[in-house]
Parts: sequence; C-alpha cells; structure tokens
Amino acid sequence: MRIVAASLALVVGASQAPMMAQSARGTRPNIIFIMTDDHAAHAIGAYGSQVNQTPNLDRLAKEGALLTSVFTTNSICTPSRAAILTGQYSHINGVTMFNRFDSSRMTVARLLQQGGYYTGMVGKWHLGSDPMGFDNWEILPGQGVYKDPVFYTASGEKTYSGRYVTDVITDLAIDFLKGRPREKPFFLMMHHKAPHRPWEPDDAHASHFAAQRIPEPVTFWDSYATRTDALHENLQRVAADLTNRDLKLKPPAGLTAAELTRWLLIKPDSVTTEVEERMVTLTGEALARWKYQRYMQDYLATVQSVDDSVGHVLEYLDKSALSKNTIVIYTSDQGFFLGDHGLFDKRFMYEESIRMPFLVRWPAAVKPGTKSQAMALNVDFAPTFLEAAGLPVPADVQGRSLLPVLRAATPRDWRTSMYYRYYHDPGNHNTRAHYGVRTRTHKLIYFWTKDQWELFDLVKDPYELHNLYDQPGQAQLTESLKAELARLKREVQDHDQLADRQLANGVDGLVAALRGR
Ligand code: CA
Repeated sequence: MRIVAASLALVVGASQAPMMAQSARGTRPNIIFIMTDDHAAHAIGAYGSQVNQTPNLDRLAKEGALLTSVFTTNSICTPSRAAILTGQYSHINGVTMFNRFDSSRMTVARLLQQGGYYTGMVGKWHLGSDPMGFDNWEILPGQGVYKDPVFYTASGEKTYSGRYVTDVITDLAIDFLKGRPREKPFFLMMHHKAPHRPWEPDDAHASHFAAQRIPEPVTFWDSYATRTDALHENLQRVAADLTNRDLKLKPPAGLTAAELTRWLLIKPDSVTTEVEERMVTLTGEALARWKYQRYMQDYLATVQSVDDSVGHVLEYLDKSALSKNTIVIYTSDQGFFLGDHGLFDKRFMYEESIRMPFLVRWPAAVKPGTKSQAMALNVDFAPTFLEAAGLPVPADVQGRSLLPVLRAATPRDWRTSMYYRYYHDPGNHNTRAHYGVRTRTHKLIYFWTKDQWELFDLVKDPYELHNLYDQPGQAQLTESLKAELARLKREVQDHDQLADRQLANGVDGLVAALRGR
C-alpha cells in the first residue's frame, strides 16, 4: 500500500504544477465522458471492424487518440462503472458483482464538483444507489429499456413515451450543455444503454443490416479443445443460449401473459424461417449461423444509433465553439463477444471481453491521429480526469492518469501487466469466477472455484485457442506468470481467498435482492 501511495504522490507531484497554472488562467478543460454498454472495440471502424462502419466514432480517432490496450478489471456492467467512478478495483470499492454502490464514497464526480466543475450524469447508472456528486442527473432504472424509457431524477420519475432511449440520452446531454452555467467548466457522464441486450434497434436502423451477410469471426467454431471446464460449461453460446426474445421470433397466437413470458425465455433448437423465398426448418450448424446473423443484425443496428448520437454531440460542440478545450471520450464499460469463441456475452478474461474501446479527442492537448498500445485500465479514468482538471489525485486511487499517454509521452515505468478478477459465479450465464494476469505477451487465468488454469501466448496465439498450461516446456513461463500474478494481487491488495468463496456462495440471494436501480 505504501509503495502504491508513494508512486501516486510522485505522479501527481510531477504533473500537477503546469496543470494548476493552466487552471489559474481559467482554461480548465470540459470533459464529456461518453460510455456505452457492451460495445466491443471490434465493432468500431477505427479499431478495424469487419462487421460495421462508425463514421462519427472514427472521427474521434482521426481528430484525437485511439488506445488499443485499454482493459476492464472486471468485465461486467456494475463493477466496471464503480471502478471508473472511484479509480479503485472491485475488492476495494466494494462492487464486485451487482451489489449497491455506497454513494457516500468519494468519486471522481464528487471531486470534480468540489473542484469547481458543473457535473452531470445522464443515462445508464446501474449502481443501485442515487448518483452523488452531480449537479444534474437523470438515470435509467437498472438496465433501462430501449423503447418508451422511464428515467429517474432527483425529483421523481419521467416517462418518454414514443421515444427511443439513445435519442433521449442524446437530448438530455445536449440539454445539460445548453443549461450549464457559463462561468464553470463542466463534466458530463453520458451513458448509453445500447448496445446491451435485448438489442432492440430503432425504426430508422432496424433493417440496416438485414440484407447483409455479416462475416463470422474466425473463432466462431472454437471447439474448446485444451480448455478448462469453465469454458465448456458456460451458457453464453450463440448456438445454444440465445432465446426466442433475443432472436425476435414471433410468438404463437393465443398465449396468456404467463405463457408468453415463458415462451420468450425458451432457447430454440430449431427455427422455421424463410430462406431464399422458401420456408426452411433450420437446426444444428445452419441454425447457429442463422442465430449469429440475427444477433449481430440487431446488436450492430443499435450501435448505429450510438454513432449518430456521438455525431450530434460533436456537432453541438463545434457549433458552440466548445470543441477545442473539451475532452470527448468514447468508451464502453467492457467489451463483448461478437460470436468470438461462439459466445455472445462478456465476463471471461478473454481479449474480446476485457478490451474497452477508448477514443479521446482534445484538440487543445492531444495530437490528431495519436495511437498508443500502452496498457491502460478502467481505474485510470478517474485520475486522468482529475489531472486534466488540475486537481490532486487521492492516495487511495489505484489507477494512474493517462494524460502522458495521450500526449504520446508514456513514462518509462508504465505498467506492462494487469490484474483481472471476475466474481459473478455462476451468474446468468454460468460463468465461473476467475482471476488472472495479462502481460503484453501472455495471459494466465485461474478459475479458482474449479482449481483449473489457462495459459495463452498472445503473440503466437492472439485468438486464445491453445491452452498451454501443463504443456511441456511451459514450466518456467508459468512460474514467472504466477509470480507476477501474486505480485499484482499484493500491489492491488486483493488477498482474501475465504472472502472469495463467501461472495460466490452468496451471489444469487444478492442479485435477487437488488432490483430497481
Ligand atoms: Ca456492460
């Protein structure tokens, strides 16, 4: 702990002086943090998407910075949000799964507000408690819904009948910008619901991908040979676990409400549908391929609305002469499997799930076209905002400011490995708890409730298909990664195995108890 605190103090001390001088001149930057839910980097043009085009998101990359190695420390909605707000790992901030965030804790929003920023939060919050540290907030209950969304505000509920959630959040963000006090810099968290399940596009984009054949990822038919039981047992497979509701299948006529609810949750093993103007019943591989197309058509169509939304925000900033000194960030709370390894969710420590897109435009300080492979984490966002605002970073913040990375001056002692931990076992998708270490070249994962390991060479096997654990010739590498994992656990102060097991056992009751926000 002492070492972490000391190094943070050094970071702050070294970088704060010029920023404070800047703030004294009244040029502190505005910050718009746009975060989507479950948007994988590989569904963004600037990240080399093979499946869609995102011109407005690409504009952020072209006019600013694109980071390729930004990772979540716990790949699921609520914990990632808590890590972003606090700059702390799940076991420190208390949100390991879907437990309620203790809003009396210090957050980056509260620190910015106390530091003179006008602060706002619109969209998906999903932390169980009301937002604190915001002058203005309007949030979705829990996950929220795509159509006719209800929002909670400090003064009660509002229903937006006939509206689409992405459009409402865009309007709320622009209203915040219009209504802000002009004498203060602002900090806005704009959190979209899209593209989270159940992937319901708006009318304008519903058929955007209908006539296209979306390419399957190279690992779509991953056989899981050499892998642990955890992967074999998971229930997030495109072929087997998408429901009638996910696939937007038409229910049979005459069902009662209770029957309809049950029917929507059925995972169909055959579907009769029109293929080349003939009705065909699909099963097996053909059905899996059809399900992938249905899933991706809807997922990607919800992303198109988000891309439009980012375009509207950038247009407003341009029009209002705010672009130059406003930091616009685009990210997602985690990545997502787009059929990769045959999956459609997140949670696992595999690349598609833990990688977060991270695009930053800040014309006053970040050179257009900046690209960095520096390893960054969701716990780094809070100290980044604080440093940009010229405010001190508290010693219990575990992340590190990304400003030097964005300025293409990554410090020599920047991290080269990261610690990951997922707790929600078995969760909705029967995904086993695990933790692990990722270096720039390797990944070691420990499924501790199973006592099984996976080891990957990310250079030779970037798709993580060949588990090298216990293979001949890997002993030395395995030992060094285990040592690094132990070092990281000590550094981030995660060392209670007994608590691990208690948390895992208590999860179902905990989730059931947490409804509403
Ligand atoms: Ca999410």
